[in-house]
Amino acid sequence: MDTRDGFIETIGNTPLIRMRAVSEATGCEILGKAEFLNPGGSIKDRAAWWMIREAENSGLLRPGNTVVEGTAGNTGIGIAHICNARGYSCVIYMPDNQSREKIEILETLGAEVRVVPTVPYTNEMNYQKQAGRYAQSLEGAVWLNQFDNTANRLAHYESTGPEIWRQTEGSVDAFVCSVGTGGTIAGVSRYLKQQRQDIQLVLLDCIGSALYSFITTGEVVMSKGTSITEGIGNSRITDNLAGAKIDWALQVTDQDMVTMVYQLLREEGWLLGSSTGINVCGAVEVARKLGPGHTIVTMLCDGGGKYRSSLFNKDWLAEKGLHLS
Ligand code: PMP
Repeated sequence: MDTRDGFIETIGNTPLIRMRAVSEATGCEILGKAEFLNPGGSIKDRAAWWMIREAENSGLLRPGNTVVEGTAGNTGIGIAHICNARGYSCVIYMPDNQSREKIEILETLGAEVRVVPTVPYTNEMNYQKQAGRYAQSLEGAVWLNQFDNTANRLAHYESTGPEIWRQTEGSVDAFVCSVGTGGTIAGVSRYLKQQRQDIQLVLLDCIGSALYSFITTGEVVMSKGTSITEGIGNSRITDNLAGAKIDWALQVTDQDMVTMVYQLLREEGWLLGSSTGINVCGAVEVARKLGPGHTIVTMLCDGGGKYRSSLFNKDWLAEKGLHLS
């Protein structure tokens, strides 16, 4: 029999999918790692499990305890699933600029969701800091701290990276990825660079984030403007991202991202989220720079169903000054 044992064993080993239109347009193989097929629906199931497993193994987390986390939503969804599967309570702090659907899913999963005003990391009322303080105040609570807990990047070093290497039979020339905590790019890039020294590792950044500036100039300066993307961009270098060997960085605008997610939907049948739009746009740009004949891998981070009231709502998009081409 070919079966997987429960929720935990269903995490990872996602397919690597050839993105047809963009591969044909560039003459490269543009391959997307189908993280939206994880059982909690996103790339963050891997980090959620690695962090919870580490807390269990270190004796910090015991049956009946409470897991607390600050998250844009997807990490929280992964955590809430795993808490149910392993008998923990779950409290999630989220900023109020994330999609309504993510909050609803978390509530359906039985998490206690605390939506707090969106303020910068430097403000003590930032959702991450509130999560940390709450966990400290509650007996039997564990704060997973996905931004600075390096069990997050270890998930991608031990699972996503080796899967990509195996699935491409070592033919991957470039890995291209947007960044939130940095866990994905740091873990995958470290593994792939150990297999092949001359692989190109490219960080993609949305507008209003400081990571493009960090990779290109070494200075952590936020770019001007804002972005409707969810789960990516950062104003600081997390412990997960620190030390990652990234070769170059590109910025992708929201308009290019919107055009791409609708192209993927209408021409190929994929309903995928905004960070995936950024990733496929970036993969196309890297394919054009490298020229035909290269294999470029990126991440299909989550599905688009959670963004029906935002990214896939034309009136909402128009309010943000974004249009469908
Ligand atoms: N895309 C989506 C949809 C996400 O939720 C996240 C995580 N916040 C990312 C991309 C970025 O992944 P990482 O945190 O590993 O950098």
